[in-house]
Amino acid sequence: MTDTHKNLVGLSREQLAAELTLIDEKPFRAKQLWHWIYHQGVTDFDLMTSIGKPLREKLHAAYEVRKPEVGLEQTSSDRTRKWLVKFEDGNEAETVYIPEDDRGAICMSSQVGCTLTCTFCHTGTQRLVRNLTPAEIVGQFMLARDSYNEWPTPQDGGRMISNIVMMGMGEPLFNYENVATALKIIMDGEGIALSKRRITLSTSGVVPEIERCGTELGVNLAISLHAVRDDLREVLVPINKKYPLHELLNACRTYPASNNARRITFEYVMLDGINDSETDARELLKLVKGIPAKFNLIPFNPWPGSNYHCSKPETIKRFSEILLDGGYSAPIRVPRGRDIMAACGQLKSESERLKKSPRAAVG
Ligand code: SAH
Ligand code: SF4
Repeated sequence: MTDTHKNLVGLSREQLAAELTLIDEKPFRAKQLWHWIYHQGVTDFDLMTSIGKPLREKLHAAYEVRKPEVGLEQTSSDRTRKWLVKFEDGNEAETVYIPEDDRGAICMSSQVGCTLTCTFCHTGTQRLVRNLTPAEIVGQFMLARDSYNEWPTPQDGGRMISNIVMMGMGEPLFNYENVATALKIIMDGEGIALSKRRITLSTSGVVPEIERCGTELGVNLAISLHAVRDDLREVLVPINKKYPLHELLNACRTYPASNNARRITFEYVMLDGINDSETDARELLKLVKGIPAKFNLIPFNPWPGSNYHCSKPETIKRFSEILLDGGYSAPIRVPRGRDIMAACGQLKSESERLKKSPRAAVG
C-alpha cells in the first residue's frame, strides 16, 4: 500500500461523488461504492463485482480503501477488547469494545492526546496532540467490525457492536468538523447504519459547540461534570474557567436532541475526599433541575503519578442512593478490562512506557 493513492474512507457522500467526477464517472457511482465500502466492508476494488472492470481499473490507479493498522489487539477476561490503533504518521490512539450481554459499545478516540488538562485524567498529561481525521475516526469503527466479523452490516438488533461512545482519547468538540463528518458516515442508513440514538458524545464542556452537536448530529450527550462548584471544577476540569457551570448547564437545558426518553448523562468521577460528600450529591440534584438527566458514577481509575484516590465503595453507594432518591438513574460504572488496562488513555501510555524503557536503561 502506498499513500500516493487517495484514501476513500472518511469522505462524505458529496466528496466521494466529487472524486468520481474527477475521473470522468457519473456521481451516482458513489452510491455503489459507498455500499461496498460501508455496507459490505469490502476494501479491494476487484471484489466489488457490481462495478465494471474499466471503472475498477481507474479506481485502482488513483484510490485505495485504507484503514488504520492495528498495533495490538487484546481481549480481557471479562470480554472487553482493546485495539492500539496506529495511524499513517506513526501516531497511535486507542479504541475499546465494552461488552454487555448480547451487544456492546465501541469507545472511540477523537484526538491523539488532549489539549485539555483535567487533573485526574491521564490523557491530559500527554504532550503530543493532534486531531484525528474523519478517516481515522471511521477507521476505528471499521477495525472493530473486522474484529467481530460484522460485515455486511447486520440488522439493527442483531449486532455485537450496537453502540458508540465518543469517550476515548481527546475532546471531540475540539475536533468538531472531523467528528461530525465521521459520525455522519457512520449514521448513514445505506452503510454502517448506526442510529444517532445509539451514539453518545462525551464532552468536558465546550459550550459553544454543544447546540450544533444536537441540531446537526442529534446524538446523545454526556457531560463530564465531576464537580458541583466552580472553584473545584476549575481545578478538576480547567475548561470550566472559560465556560463555567451555569453556562454549561444552560447549554444542557436547551440541548436540541434531549428529552425524557433521551436523557443527558452527567459523568461524575468519584474522588476520595474531593467531590464525594453527601452535600455534593444533594447539590448535584439542584444543579440538574429542569434537565432530562441521568448520572454515571465513575470510580476513579488511578494511574502512575496521579494525586487522587478512588472514593470508598460505601461512599460511592451513598452518593448513588441520594441521586436515586432524587428520582434519577445513577449507576456506578463497573470497571472493565482492568487486566488489559482498558481505561481512558491507559493503553497508549503503557505502550509508550514500554518503548521508553530500553532508552531509560542506557542513560
Ligand atoms: N474528553 C471527553 C471525552 C473523553 S474522557 C470528556 O472529557 O468528556 C471520557 C470520560 O472518562 C470522561 O468523563 C473523563 O472525565 C473520564 N476519565 C478520565 N480519566 C479518568 C480516570 N482516571 N478515572 C475515571 N474516569 C476518568
Ligand atoms: Fe481531555 Fe476528557 Fe481527559 Fe479532560 S477528561 S483531559 S477533556 S480526555
